[in-house]
Amino acid sequence: MSPDDRVYAYSAVLMGSPILLKLLEHNQPLAADVFRLIKQQENLFTVNRPASEVMAVNQAAGDHPVVVSQPVFDLIARAREISLLTGSCFNFTIGPLVKCWKIGFQGNSIPPAAEIARLLTLTNPRQVILDRQARSVFLQTKGMEIDLGAIAKGYIADRVRDFLRQQQVTDALINLGGNVQTIGGMPDWGIGLKKPFAGPDELIGVISVCGKSVVTSGIYERYFELAGQRYHHILDPQSGFPLDNELLSVTIISPQSIDGDIYTTLLYGMGVDKGLAYIAETPDIEAIFVTRQRQVICSSQRQFTFTLLDNRYQLQ
Ligand code: ADP
Ligand code: MG
Repeated sequence: MSPDDRVYAYSAVLMGSPILLKLLEHNQPLAADVFRLIKQQENLFTVNRPASEVMAVNQAAGDHPVVVSQPVFDLIARAREISLLTGSCFNFTIGPLVKCWKIGFQGNSIPPAAEIARLLTLTNPRQVILDRQARSVFLQTKGMEIDLGAIAKGYIADRVRDFLRQQQVTDALINLGGNVQTIGGMPDWGIGLKKPFAGPDELIGVISVCGKSVVTSGIYERYFELAGQRYHHILDPQSGFPLDNELLSVTIISPQSIDGDIYTTLLYGMGVDKGLAYIAETPDIEAIFVTRQRQVICSSQRQFTFTLLDNRYQLQ
């Protein structure tokens, strides 16, 4: 987006993440409304505080169904569907393992194998029973916990986009801790692709989009190190350990930020070759993979352009 001096930026820390709103007009009350909306949404989905609709579902595991609001029901239904795709490494019932590893929340050791094995038995998405009529969610086994951490930010970014559109805003960017959603952008909004394990302002390149979402999931965001090994926060639902492959990050460019959030996790699990083949068949979803060999691999660039800034990375 240029010229830059036309852009007004508003920031806050919500959901444990830095939030940035960019507008082309100075409008503090609108920014306050946006931050209020984010807070409200967070209160529905968080599993990091005792009281939320999702926590109520978790607390009733093995005991009784809980009636939730329509948006929460719909997001849970979507998460269940994605979790049940063949070979999916997305699993929204991974909660017990996320809590056990505590990666990004002071976790610094590998849980005992027996504990991981035990918790894996509590991560069957089929044991989440949905009743659309009653709008209720029931976790069949005590100890099960759903975790929407992989998709809540994308969902909320889309709600912010909807709200701003209702307010007749024609150009805006919202960044929810790495989930970016945009409205308009003349000529384009530029979104930095972060360099893994480097300072926050160090970029591999810039992704330019107009009215699209850009979501990056990387193994360098939340992790701990032990005996020279890194343990990051996207877990393999099969093994209960952090997913391990050639990728440092996956970025998805798509109209909806919720899709970006879903596909970053799915494609992270697939790796480059399978991931590229998969999105070639999926309309509206495009990707940028960054590998440990410093390769930057872009899918067909219909919804974005990418400019490489760091020559130590190789654009493929
Ligand atoms: P962030 O943008 O906050 O780094 P991501 O969108 O990459 O988060 O999702 C990571 C979060 O998703 C984890 O912190 C955890 O709460 C949850 N999670 C971890 N592994 C999985 C998985 N295999 N499937 C679904 N959710 C997961
Ligand atoms: Mg995600």
